[in-house]
Amino acid sequence: MTEDKEERKHQLSPSAWNRYETCPRMYWLSRQGFPRKAGMAASLGTAVHASIEDLLNMDISDQEDMEMGWFPDCALQMLQNRWDEEKAVFLSTPRRPMWKEEQFTEAKRQQRGGVIMLLDHIGVKGLAPERISYGLWKKLQQHVIAVEGELKTRDGRLMGRLDLLLADVDMDGNMTGWLVADLKTGNAPETKLKEEVNRQLRMYRDILLANNPNAPEVRTEGWYTKTASKWPASGPSVLEDAYAAWEATQISDQPLPAIPGEETCGGFCDFKAWCPHWWNWRQATGTLHSGDFMDMVVLIHSYDESSGVAIVELCEPSSTEGHPLPTGQRFTANFDGRGKEAFEEMWDSHKGVTFISSAMMRNDSIRVGHWCDVLPWNPISDQGQALM
Ligand code: SF4
Repeated sequence: MTEDKEERKHQLSPSAWNRYETCPRMYWLSRQGFPRKAGMAASLGTAVHASIEDLLNMDISDQEDMEMGWFPDCALQMLQNRWDEEKAVFLSTPRRPMWKEEQFTEAKRQQRGGVIMLLDHIGVKGLAPERISYGLWKKLQQHVIAVEGELKTRDGRLMGRLDLLLADVDMDGNMTGWLVADLKTGNAPETKLKEEVNRQLRMYRDILLANNPNAPEVRTEGWYTKTASKWPASGPSVLEDAYAAWEATQISDQPLPAIPGEETCGGFCDFKAWCPHWWNWRQATGTLHSGDFMDMVVLIHSYDESSGVAIVELCEPSSTEGHPLPTGQRFTANFDGRGKEAFEEMWDSHKGVTFISSAMMRNDSIRVGHWCDVLPWNPISDQGQALM
């Protein structure tokens, strides 16, 4: 492959940009092909998104405009289909927590939130789902310019997935502009959009404008399905910063810098099994093996499959590269549920040093449950070498 083609292959999405801004090493590790982690919140979000898109895409041209009562069953069936699809993907992902079927109720609630916001876009408020007529839904569909499309700059460097592109229409039915609506199934903001979400939405807007120089006015909103609330994003173009980030995020064998800390490693990072920095940061700040839930690197001394009980020894870092030093502190660890399955799946092929995330420490015993990651400890050094 020529250098030019390789360069063109590199694309930056808003989520990859956010990951890079949070911690460049996290971004670099996310591009190394390590096993993807499934999550219940992400699966619920995908099912809700897809079912709303299905509702907007369905062909109802043959249906009588006045007919009502069809919508609740139709929406439920579309959600159920997408839910089942997501469940199958989730359960076939080796790195996963427990599937929570009871979350389907929440998915229904959030699908309903999305429908409320769609109807609000055409000026309909407070309408019970059974009173949605085919005629009303057709009218809504006429406002839809695009559903779930890939947005890409002409040079292919910046990209994102557009949930909804809707027409803004005035009282006389004339189009006055475009609305980029991004469905969000996470918690709604309290006062304004988070900076990274604002930037994501502006990136969609700016790619759209760059590709459509004759576009009408484009506005963009985050649509939060939990509360059926719409949050506008505004601000100057992000394209210059996005291209700078594109340059900075090109992947080579050399790992990008790590930014360990409470906001980064202490928060959500799926790549700790391959990063020595959180471990050294925990030790340097005196927070290693503290708290009720803790990330740990352990030696497994014994394991009883029938009871799920193991004897583990805590390790601490003996080098900045993540070499483990056994501490002599041994504990009983109880593996249960999905935590036990994950451990046994690993144990078949790896009996060495092990990383466990968010293990629960109570009364000098450790519980490794469905929420825990259990992976071989395999830190990558700052020079890009795997140590174990
Ligand atoms: S563990 Fe911390 S330093 Fe390492 S990649 Fe994750 S966020 Fe960055």
